[in-house]
Amino acid sequence: MKIFRSELDSEFKDRLFDITVGDLPNNSSRFNNDIIQCTLSSTKVRSGFHLTGVLSAEQVYDCDRCLESFSVSGQVRLKLWLISDQDLTTLDEIERVYFPESKDSIELKGIFSELLLLSEPMKKLCVDSCEGLCLQCGVNLNHGNCICEYPDESVEDL
Ligand SMILES: [Zn+2]
Ligand SMILES: [Zn+2]
Repeated sequence: MKIFRSELDSEFKDRLFDITVGDLPNNSSRFNNDIIQCTLSSTKVRSGFHLTGVLSAEQVYDCDRCLESFSVSGQVRLKLWLISDQDLTTLDEIERVYFPESKDSIELKGIFSELLLLSEPMKKLCVDSCEGLCLQCGVNLNHGNCICEYPDESVEDL
């Protein structure tokens, strides 16, 4: 998703942008919709622009316990500095983006895609009480019980 310097220059508040999922660089994120909505505001600062806003996306994950996929709609806040002074940008901070004055537009899809990836939860559970899969027959215990019998001691071993 490209933003032109002229747009940033004229400053805007809560402008709505649509990002097509297919345009994002390929990473492991999966989405429920083809469009990610994004609200952005631009403010001029001394060395460039301050771009703030929210990405709203419905991401799809596989449950860590039962392996079924589920979706979570979430919002990722973003606060970017688009800076013309390269000395002020560092490699390990994705919030600071180098935007040299010689360029009249900036491509943001790589950064957005990275922010969405970083927003993934550490633990992915379809529901907190997910029963998971039976370790013997593989049945999804959320959908019903299986006929496997566990000797008491092996249950304690788990
Ligand atoms: Zn689950
Ligand atoms: Zn079973």
